[in-house]
Amino acid sequence: MEDSKKKPVMIGVIVVCLAVAGLVTYMRSGDDGGIDSISDDETRWVKCNNPACKAEYEVGLKKYFQDLQANMNPNPMATTATALTCKECDKRSLYGAKKCANTACGVVFIEGIAGPDDHADRCPDCGQSEIEEIRKRRLAGEQ
Ligand SMILES: [Zn+2]
Ligand SMILES: [Zn+2]
Repeated sequence: MEDSKKKPVMIGVIVVCLAVAGLVTYMRSGDDGGIDSISDDETRWVKCNNPACKAEYEVGLKKYFQDLQANMNPNPMATTATALTCKECDKRSLYGAKKCANTACGVVFIEGIAGPDDHADRCPDCGQSEIEEIRKRRLAGEQ
């Protein structure tokens, strides 16, 4: 019981950390204005972690990072992760998600749901991880 309550929070913390790491990477890699340099055409998947909602949809990548930045808790003592607000249920339970690269599967899942010790893009449905696949291919090519 306790564990099942803790899990979504854990996932939230991991996912927000990943998202922030991604944001920092973006800010650093672009010498021409960070978020503003993201094309308006770029989108990413998001998924609602509210069990009663589970909405999944695509949002503009730029908007996603802007929302995330606006969402960062200004209080460094706060330990709660801040998710984005879901457009369907209006709850703060929206996380960055990925669409499974396996075309036979194609489910949308919350990034990092496999846990901190696994690839963030491991599909909870079919178990495929695109990062892992790319690494495997690279290893195979080197032999
Ligand atoms: Zn929702
Ligand atoms: Zn899958």
